[in-house]
Amino acid sequence: MAKQSDVAVIGAGAAGMMCAAVAAQRGKRVVLLDHAARLAEKIRISGGGRCNFTNLHAGPQHFLSENPHFCKSALSRYTAQDFLALVKKHRIGYHEKHKGQLFCNDSAEQIIQMLKDECAAGGVEWRMPCKVAGVERQVDGRFLLQTDSGDIEAASVVVATGGLSIPKIGATDFGHRIARQFDLKLVEPRPALVPLTFDEAEWKPFVPLAGIALEVDVETGSFKGRNPTGGRFREDLLFTHRGLSGPAILQISSFWQPGTPIVINLLPEMDLAQTLIEGKGSIKKQLGNVLSQWLPARLAEGLLLAHGFALDARLADMPDAQLRRLGQAINQWTLVPNGSEGYRKAEVTRGGVDTRELSQQTMMATKVPGLYFVGETVDVTGWLGGYNFQWAWASGVAAGQAV
Ligand code: FAD
Repeated sequence: MAKQSDVAVIGAGAAGMMCAAVAAQRGKRVVLLDHAARLAEKIRISGGGRCNFTNLHAGPQHFLSENPHFCKSALSRYTAQDFLALVKKHRIGYHEKHKGQLFCNDSAEQIIQMLKDECAAGGVEWRMPCKVAGVERQVDGRFLLQTDSGDIEAASVVVATGGLSIPKIGATDFGHRIARQFDLKLVEPRPALVPLTFDEAEWKPFVPLAGIALEVDVETGSFKGRNPTGGRFREDLLFTHRGLSGPAILQISSFWQPGTPIVINLLPEMDLAQTLIEGKGSIKKQLGNVLSQWLPARLAEGLLLAHGFALDARLADMPDAQLRRLGQAINQWTLVPNGSEGYRKAEVTRGGVDTRELSQQTMMATKVPGLYFVGETVDVTGWLGGYNFQWAWASGVAAGQAV
């Protein structure tokens, strides 16, 4: 005899726990299942262990999707301030770090405990670890879930199994498989918020720069028009042995299209060519020393060598054309990544269940009454900075109120 329930939520991560808590507190009988042995690993490791749980400025302009309007409804009905009110209710200390990003003072574990407590307040029933072998829609419209801890029959199923990033902590393509099973379209998934890599031979001159970090402007034109504010960030960049990382690169990676370049301005506050040409008469130093005034010395030297300039060249002796070439190399360093570090290192997955298949008010599949998708399974991807959790909370609440 199958266990009878109103709602089965599959995936006890950020969106799943939020959805389960909201539905249960409305009086629904909710079963929450997860295949992992440890609860909410992604929340635990997020924000360096302190969970950047929302962003005070979160709005639809901070999300990428084939349909940028889809996220508006859920985000406007459950805002960063709403989540913050919950955090305050649970007396969790927090602070703003950078550009509206809110972090726990102590530990991400507090957010997990808060969500567990909210689930408990509604009487959510847990099944964990629990594997779901199949989800079927019966003739009466109810769903039958076959699991390794017995069958469950539910009027609604919420798929909250997240994206593909970091498979070693339990990410699977379950959400995408269920979408395909019910004939729902998918937007091609790919790693996002991920370090970018370069051809080994081309990157060789930059390998010694690994570990250097600095604030840069980075941009790509590939998404201009679709997202009016997208494709340009001022953030920190980090050189690695295989390529580039740091917030600037993670941000731009979500916009980057394979085969296209990214453009980095390593001295965003200065027109280098103009400064050097104007200073030719008065600056007596050698080129390496000149550049080291504005860039970390190791970076200045590495860049000059990589671009074929002599460190000891005297500025006064250099033709303007060469200084313009140097200016271009620093102010508009144009590189074509050969790929990314992939799902192993990606913070999120772009793409997922096509939003045209879902109701923006309820997150329900319009073709399959009773079947909902929330969080990262859906083709809504936030920028770096607490936006992805805000989407998980908001979409979880939207479904939790509707089931
Ligand atoms: P998840 O939180 O990933 O939850 C999915 C759940 O489903 C998991 O518990 C998983 O075990 C379960 N599951 C998967 N497959 C199955 C299956 N087949 N059967 C049953 N259960 C299954 N975002 C921010 O906003 N701020 C941050 O500070 C931040 N830091 C991050 C740091 C790292 C290293 C990473 C990887 C991500 C970070 N993110 C951050 C992104 C954020 O963690 C995700 O966007 C968010 O967790 C998505 O929520 P979700 O509920 O959709 O999925």
